This record gives sequence, C-alpha cells and structure tokens, in this order.
Amino acid sequence: MSNPEDLRGQKFGKRTVFAAAASRNGRGRWKVRCDCGRVDEVFGTELRAGRALMCRPCALDERRAALAQSIAGQVFGLRTVIGASRRKSRGFMFITVRCQCGFESDVRSDFLFSGQANACVSCTNSTYRKPRTPKFVAENAHV
Ligand SMILES: [Zn+2]
Ligand SMILES: [Zn+2]
Repeated sequence: MSNPEDLRGQKFGKRTVFAAAASRNGRGRWKVRCDCGRVDEVFGTELRAGRALMCRPCALDERRAALAQSIAGQVFGLRTVIGASRRKSRGFMFITVRCQCGFESDVRSDFLFSGQANACVSCTNSTYRKPRTPKFVAENAHV
C-alpha cells in the first residue's frame, strides 16, 4: 500500500506532482508541473484542498478568458467583442474584436472599456475624425 501522503504521480487540476520538495514550516511541499510546462513548488495541503490547481499564468489566462466570455457580443462603438485574445503583454489583457467593417484585431481591454478603441484605424479616420467644420457651413459656402 502506497503512502497516502505521497502525492507523486497524482494530478490536481492542470498540475502533476512529479517530486517531493523541501518541506516548509513542517508542511510537505511538492514539485508540480502545470500542463503549460511551468514548474512550481506547492503545499500538499493546498493541492488536496482543491486549491492551486494551476500555475499563476494559467490562472490569469482563465480569468481573462472568463472575462472575455462574459462580454462576448458586447458592442463598443463600432466594434463587437469576439472573445479572449491569445496575445499577451505584461499586465494587460487583450480582447479580440470585430469592427463593423469586418476588420478583426486585438485591443487592450482597458482601452476598450474606456472608449479609446471603439473602431479600427480606418473607421476611426473616416467616422470619428470628420472635419470639424459644421456641415451647413460647407454646404452653404458656395451660395
Ligand atoms: Zn500553467
Ligand atoms: Zn473598421
């Protein structure tokens, strides 16, 4: 009968325990490899409690994906949210959006939410940056 304390070979969420690590404060720690390949050391108690089931970057990805999922279909200006982008940049989340002209791009979520990314560049140029001259002035200029 194998030692129930020995977690080697067991899988918790995305993480597989592959070796024992030095214990800390008398609590057993284990080396785990996430599905993404990242290796961390975690407490066995955390694993057994159903926490720490993936590495931090993966947890962040999941949160981002969940957020993108929750706003899928929402419209920001001319753009409609399609879903989470795979693009990553330190500290920023990117969301894939489709402009009404059909152009798809990844935009920073903070730009999207603040209204700074409401259209693709060409639509921004043609829709949001019309000449400031009021229309009636231009129309009546030749009179
Ligand atoms: Zn991971
Ligand atoms: Zn566009």
